[in-house]
Amino acid sequence: MQHDYQILQPGWIVTVNSDFEVLRDCAVVIEDNRIHSLTSIDEVRQLPCYARARVIDLPDHVLLPGLVNSHTHASMTLLRGIADDLPLMDWLSNHIWPAEARWVDAGFAADGFRLAAAEMIRSGTTCMNDMYFFPDEVARCAQQIGMRVVVGLIVLDFPSVWARNADEYLHKALAVHDEIRGYGLVDSALAPHAPYTVSDEPLRQIAMYSNELDLPVHIHLHETRAEVDEAQNKNGQRPLQRLDQLNLLNPSLIAVHMTELNEFEIERIAEAGVNVAHCPESNLKLASGICPLTTLLDKGVNVCLGTDGAASNNDLDMFGEMRTAALLAKGSSGDASACNARQAIEMATINGARALGMADRIGSIEIGKCADLIAINLAELNTQPVYDPVAQIVYAAASRQVSDVWIDGVAQLRNHEFCHLDANKIVTMAASWEKKIES
Ligand SMILES: [Zn+2]
Repeated sequence: MQHDYQILQPGWIVTVNSDFEVLRDCAVVIEDNRIHSLTSIDEVRQLPCYARARVIDLPDHVLLPGLVNSHTHASMTLLRGIADDLPLMDWLSNHIWPAEARWVDAGFAADGFRLAAAEMIRSGTTCMNDMYFFPDEVARCAQQIGMRVVVGLIVLDFPSVWARNADEYLHKALAVHDEIRGYGLVDSALAPHAPYTVSDEPLRQIAMYSNELDLPVHIHLHETRAEVDEAQNKNGQRPLQRLDQLNLLNPSLIAVHMTELNEFEIERIAEAGVNVAHCPESNLKLASGICPLTTLLDKGVNVCLGTDGAASNNDLDMFGEMRTAALLAKGSSGDASACNARQAIEMATINGARALGMADRIGSIEIGKCADLIAINLAELNTQPVYDPVAQIVYAAASRQVSDVWIDGVAQLRNHEFCHLDANKIVTMAASWEKKIES
């Protein structure tokens, strides 16, 4: 078989390997969809594949592993700006859930996903952990676009356009999991929405299926103090304790938000190997609380970063999340060394890959991994001079400086232009939904 080679020659490579090596004057050789080798720019010309490779010079650019958005609801991007400046439960119960009941169908899920995927690719995200209705539709769109996705197999107690009750959600979850087995870019996770929307019996079954099928469990957890207080009044227990009794606290769990945690709970999740998906901008916008990031990192908890849906953020920009996470950790702990630039980048790349059980495939620039890569052009006023490319990425760069994106070796963005997606068509589609929903 004839192999396809691409050779990228960036100014810097931030590998995000275990030593967090930053390489100068080094080329990345991509063979088909994999990282084949890392070679000094002087020696790369001697490689036998060099003559027939596409060589891409990126002298002012830093190459980074593609960003992993560890918590989002991609299709909800069509509801961006429908209700703002409200607390979580008012926003959900009186605005989002009624709008979803009226508008969500397979077409909405597909169109919303396309809008989100385009925004994410343009801002350097190459993999997302999604949770929404019609995961089958999302999986098909992702495969077609070439976006890497972990689709959330959503489970709720209450009826929606996707299923009538918990049994049907679970039945459909397993059916979608089977259907997408052959999709190279799509994985799945069990996605019970939250402890307050899913009862014990389906959660028990989810724990069992997660164990049997080796699937992550993606759940909103301890998002606000009100959630924890209400659970305590209703069941006499905090949600985390309830999930512990249901055998859900283990390295497969991706607990999203976690703003309300006591010392005992932090010890418990550290010991159990639970992953935390921190969504600082969504938490700040809904005034949900502040995740104790510094303590979690100190205790060795694997913390990754997510944007949450665009209806509560209101963008899908992981550069914004890295910077906000770092600044919020410093401000809330009174310690300027809290969440340094390296940790912010790790949370947005390898920690997300680890939470999703994909660290052997993505999350760093290492030989054998999938070529999910992004190039950021630092030759702009706001990122000069470059003493430290790592600090520039977190504290100074804007996502519009992402010039090139590869997912599984396929170029999705070259010199700021989409290779396959049609941005104008997507904008027209989004505007037509706005007209329909507003009327
Ligand atoms: Zn969410």
